[in-house]
Amino acid sequence: MQVFKFGGASVKDAAGVINLAAIVRQYANGPLLIVVSAMGKTTNALEALSNAYINQADDVHELFQQVKDAHYRIAHELFGEQHPVMDELENTFVEIDWMLEDEPHDDPDFIYDQLVSIGELLSTRIVNAYLNEAGIKSSWLDVRSYIHTDNTYREGVVDWDKTCTVIQQDIPAFSQQNIVVTQGFLGGTSENFTTTLGREGSDYTASIFASCLQAEAVTIWKDVPGVLNADPKLFADTVKFDELSYNEAIEMTYYGATVIHPKTIKPLLDKQIPLLVKSFAYPQEMGTRVHDVKQVHYQKPVIIVKNNQVLLSVTAKNHSFISEQHLSTLTGLFAAQRIKINVLQISALTISVCFDDSPRFKILLQQLQADFSTRYNEQLQLITLRHYQQDTLSQLISGKAVLLEQLSRSTAQVVVK
Ligand code: ASP
Ligand code: MG
Repeated sequence: MQVFKFGGASVKDAAGVINLAAIVRQYANGPLLIVVSAMGKTTNALEALSNAYINQADDVHELFQQVKDAHYRIAHELFGEQHPVMDELENTFVEIDWMLEDEPHDDPDFIYDQLVSIGELLSTRIVNAYLNEAGIKSSWLDVRSYIHTDNTYREGVVDWDKTCTVIQQDIPAFSQQNIVVTQGFLGGTSENFTTTLGREGSDYTASIFASCLQAEAVTIWKDVPGVLNADPKLFADTVKFDELSYNEAIEMTYYGATVIHPKTIKPLLDKQIPLLVKSFAYPQEMGTRVHDVKQVHYQKPVIIVKNNQVLLSVTAKNHSFISEQHLSTLTGLFAAQRIKINVLQISALTISVCFDDSPRFKILLQQLQADFSTRYNEQLQLITLRHYQQDTLSQLISGKAVLLEQLSRSTAQVVVK
């Protein structure tokens, strides 16, 4: 069994879908399961729609119309005016039309998941129809009956036992007949509501299927040649890694490398399933192989930049030394708001915490008032360097105001303005 994941960039238009089919044709003897994301920037557009609907803004219908038009345009390009897939798209749209007519449910995260999830439902309908049109037998699978999660909307927690049981029951036989096309990013609750697994979560979906099915490999098809040492949009002279260890990939994604979703690697490591990151534009090139490799020589350091960071410093109200009790209160409040800490530093009187800005930060700030005095800076950048040399670090931060620095033998982290 092979598992492929095609991200939004690979299916952003009709040409992308045609290219996907050309890649898949090479593996059409199967068994093959394909996980697909929403087309292009659809998830962002649906996020905007969801916010507009929650706030009962005027442009709700206009925003939804744009999503509809974009999908019909691609479908018409691929299939002409008449094709059964048009009804499938229409049915998906109608359900949302009904929802938008009603008063918003009081949990915004619940609304988000019911709405934003249609991006993947639509893209997979189109991809599946096109594969069949191109003579590649495939069938559409509703992932919400397979990836079972709790009801933490926007960040569904996977019930691995239940998920693997149904996947192992159905998929092997199913994939003997056909290539299987399914949605990334989505899950389903025991009450049959839709959940999502967190932005860019389709990689994780692929990894879950691969793990449950003990697949030979997972291939993520991307708009870059593989895993690079830095984001080519930010740095010139990037180098591609031919191979990486599971641990290095886990570290890189933990520090914010967006090339692979952070939750993807661990299940593959546990089952020793290799992960290939390859270019959908140059599918014959080898890309990067993440597997069980001991020694990798790092010609250049890995550079990871995270924007939109907050650096918060807290001191105890009574000016007492920072104790384990303070730390526990503080991290408890972070956990309750689901804000993940990127860097933490403690001195005698201060705890400094760096994290991604989010609307929940302001709630956290209020809750901290009881025990702590607070100061913070927003709009900062967190730069992480792995396998760094002092000169690259100095170059990177020259001319910038460094607000916090943390160094270990392998990793340097600096928060800069
Ligand atoms: N479509 C979702 C997103 O853009 C999931 C994914 O692409 O992996 O976040
Ligand atoms: Mg995406």
